[in-house]
Amino acid sequence: MTCPKCGDVMAMTRGAHRYLESGLSDVTLLDVEICECACGERAIVVPHRAELHALIGRTIATDTKFLPIRAVLANHWRLA
Ligand SMILES: [Zn+2]
Repeated sequence: MTCPKCGDVMAMTRGAHRYLESGLSDVTLLDVEICECACGERAIVVPHRAELHALIGRTIATDTKFLPIRAVLANHWRLA
């Protein structure tokens, strides 16, 4: 992968990534491609991103352990 910041080739490893981009603080992706550049740029390859976001959404909507999160989302977005 080419670095979008400096154009250099990025090194790729695999590992865990705390997926803060999901908007949630407790979602960790395991065994994902992590691309890093000497300039400090970092990129995560998330395959099937739309399906992953749908799965996260379904889990929040249906799992009772996420009731507090649903309450916060409902209050923030005025959902019921
Ligand atoms: Zn770079």
